[in-house]
Order: sequence, then C-alpha cells, then structure tokens
Amino acid sequence: MRCPRCQGRMFAEKYYDFVRSFDAWKCSCCGDVVDSTILQNRARSSSSFLG
Ligand SMILES: [Zn+2]
Repeated sequence: MRCPRCQGRMFAEKYYDFVRSFDAWKCSCCGDVVDSTILQNRARSSSSFLG
C-alpha cells in the first residue's frame, strides 16, 4: 500500500468509530489516513484522481 499523497509507505492501523472499529491505512511519512470509506468516496466523486 502506497500513500496516494506522497507515495510513502503506509501501515494498517485500527481505528474506533462511535459504534464500530475499522482498519485504515496511515502513512508513515505524511500521516495521511486512508480507509475504505474514503477510498470509495474518492472513487465515486471523481474518476481521475490528481492528488
Ligand atoms: Zn504520505
């Protein structure tokens, strides 16, 4: 998994929402957090991702 922002290495991390827990990816370089919901929203909003 590469960071979509800086192409750095990302590692899986467990996050806790109000009602659930979910796995997300966190970049060790810039600290950007990406989870499946964010990826789905990005894919839905625009087909061309420019960063
Ligand atoms: Zn990054």
